[in-house]
Amino acid sequence: MLKITQFFETDVLVVGGGIAGLMAGIAARDQGADVIIAEKADTRRSGSGATGNDHFLCYIPEKHGDDPRLVLHEIADSMLGSNMDADIAMRFLNESFNVVKSWHEWGINMRLHDDWTFMGHAFPGRPRIFLKYDGHNQKAVLTREAKKRGARLLNHHPVLELIKDENGVAGALALDVSSPEPAFTLIRAKTVILATGSGNRLYPSTSTPGMLFNTGFCPGCTAAALALSWRIGARLVNMEIPFRHAGPRYFTRCGKATWIGMYRYPDGKPLGPFVTKATRELGDITGDVWNTSFTDLMCNGRGPAYMDCTQDAPEDLAFMREGMASEGLTSLIDYMDANSIDPGKHVVEFGQFEPFLIGRGVEIDINGQSTIPGLYAAGDVMGNFRADMGGAAVMGWISGKEVAAACANRSLISAERAESDAWLNERLAYYGSFYERKQGAGWKDANMALQQIMNDYAAVGPHRVRSGSLLSAGLEYLRQLREQAVAQLSTPCSHTLMRATEVLDLMDCGEAVIRAAMERKESRGLHQRADFTFTNPLLNNKFLEIWREDGAVRMNWRSKRQ
Ligand SMILES: Cc1cc2nc3c(=O)[nH]c(=O)nc-3n(C[C@H](O)[C@H](O)[C@H](O)COP(=O)(O)OP(=O)(O)OC[C@H]3O[C@@H](n4cnc5c(N)ncnc54)[C@H](O)[C@@H]3O)c2cc1C
Repeated sequence: MLKITQFFETDVLVVGGGIAGLMAGIAARDQGADVIIAEKADTRRSGSGATGNDHFLCYIPEKHGDDPRLVLHEIADSMLGSNMDADIAMRFLNESFNVVKSWHEWGINMRLHDDWTFMGHAFPGRPRIFLKYDGHNQKAVLTREAKKRGARLLNHHPVLELIKDENGVAGALALDVSSPEPAFTLIRAKTVILATGSGNRLYPSTSTPGMLFNTGFCPGCTAAALALSWRIGARLVNMEIPFRHAGPRYFTRCGKATWIGMYRYPDGKPLGPFVTKATRELGDITGDVWNTSFTDLMCNGRGPAYMDCTQDAPEDLAFMREGMASEGLTSLIDYMDANSIDPGKHVVEFGQFEPFLIGRGVEIDINGQSTIPGLYAAGDVMGNFRADMGGAAVMGWISGKEVAAACANRSLISAERAESDAWLNERLAYYGSFYERKQGAGWKDANMALQQIMNDYAAVGPHRVRSGSLLSAGLEYLRQLREQAVAQLSTPCSHTLMRATEVLDLMDCGEAVIRAAMERKESRGLHQRADFTFTNPLLNNKFLEIWREDGAVRMNWRSKRQ
């Protein structure tokens, strides 16, 4: 049987060393707490912010005026606004400028042309809320800052399970994948912050269904935080409301606001009414507002939809290219260069990417705490607030400060108690069995089968529908798939074992999505029901919570906090 070979204890365990996780670790260390950051890959280059980003949602009083509600209002109208509790958003806004200033001090250039410059994702005549910055070095800088403060970085350690006692969360079980031979690591902690990023690979890659890893966001982020929380009974929220991003078709890369161009029909007519010429300041917000346009045009035959930068001035094209490097789109630049694709001369076809989990997930309070005491969540895993990069940085920072304070009132589980925990020992045997099984099914088979089920039975719009009968069938197929996966998965090394655990996490998320979708008996956004084709006004401003309790799945509708 695979054994636990490493034992750690800490005040704060951060799960995931992306933007939110590193910021949480930095803030907790600044408050004097002992911190371990367990990261699946390597914090220097991991997660969706691995190679850079260039838009940071924030509130800067000298630019926006004294009332942060002005920015709140813009968030509500943006592609980020649907799942937002306003009290969390206000706390985020009020702390955001301090984080921006810290990043600038640490060496991430937040001041383009020596000023706080807001650009992109913007409507004409309305306040702009995305700070344009150069994030190409953000992961290296944040890793350095975390290390400088004495946070312990545990790279190549995906966390597989949380443990809890009567006081709430008590630590975690991680897999050491630093060598081909897997081993377990047990971390006892007073508090845990989940920051594992978005949930990808639940649905097939839209552009290239055969390629599991050609996804809009980081394909190594597989909603672990949601699955870990689900298994110990924390509440998830908004799971049934799907989201899809868009960008260059086939070459799946997010970052569409970095493009300074107009969305057009093939005959050159603009898709949207917002601008007649794309500028650095505004771009063309049509792609955010009419998120389904790229698919609609394929289905109604009027497409494809193109991103057209051919009318940009040379200096705007050069600025856009710099922005792409800040945004981490260097592989796209290399590809365009290698194939003589010049956005100044050639239009680029855009498409909608696969559904993924972001801004639907762990339900948190204003401090970032989940419904389990001592368990916090920050970044893309949050279910009731979403602000992507800015959200990860600022909410990571807030949760780090909060856990450090909370540690004063929390005690560490004893080693004996943790090691004899029945749940922990069951999970050790469970994960170990995949490695010990010498022949069986591979993780990719399980992942593709899961994607097939989600795509066919919990379909995401536009032009695809869900229904009670389809969702019920999907739930049953998912149950069968899980049973077969557990009985058949064989993972000959630490890497494949890690991949298999990702797929099992995604199955838990798939179950939560399907069950919540069954409960939402209406059509809203990309959740389209063939049997309830209308939007129910009684569900406006309502969030659906879902969690496991005493072996059963429970749900509750609650009001969104205004
Ligand atoms: C190309 C691209 C461009 C983007 N541009 C922008 C932009 O300009 N502005 C903006 O606001 N947003 C942008 N985003 C989104 C932004 O990058 C994310 O919102 C942000 O990185 C989220 O931070 P996070 O810390 O929540 O997750 P991530 O930064 O994705 O970090 C999650 C971390 O958790 C680790 N992990 C996962 N599972 C486990 C596990 N089980 N155990 C341990 N570790 C685990 C991962 O390896 C990863 O390091 C962009 C995304 C992409 C892909």
